[in-house]
Amino acid sequence: MCVRCDEMTDDPVVVSEVHQNSGPGWNVYACRACAPYYPPLPDVLDLLPGRRGEGEAGP
Ligand SMILES: [Zn+2]
Repeated sequence: MCVRCDEMTDDPVVVSEVHQNSGPGWNVYACRACAPYYPPLPDVLDLLPGRRGEGEAGP
């Protein structure tokens, strides 16, 4: 479901990743129309060891 317009989309785009100290984090999705309103994912995730390639292009 799109985080901005709250509509279901068949083609969601990950616009943000939420990380918590306790428990699993989650991804924030937006539809294609709303995705441009959000900044790209921060590169810091790629700089952290062990995060590379995790959760990318999932189903
Ligand atoms: Zn939307």
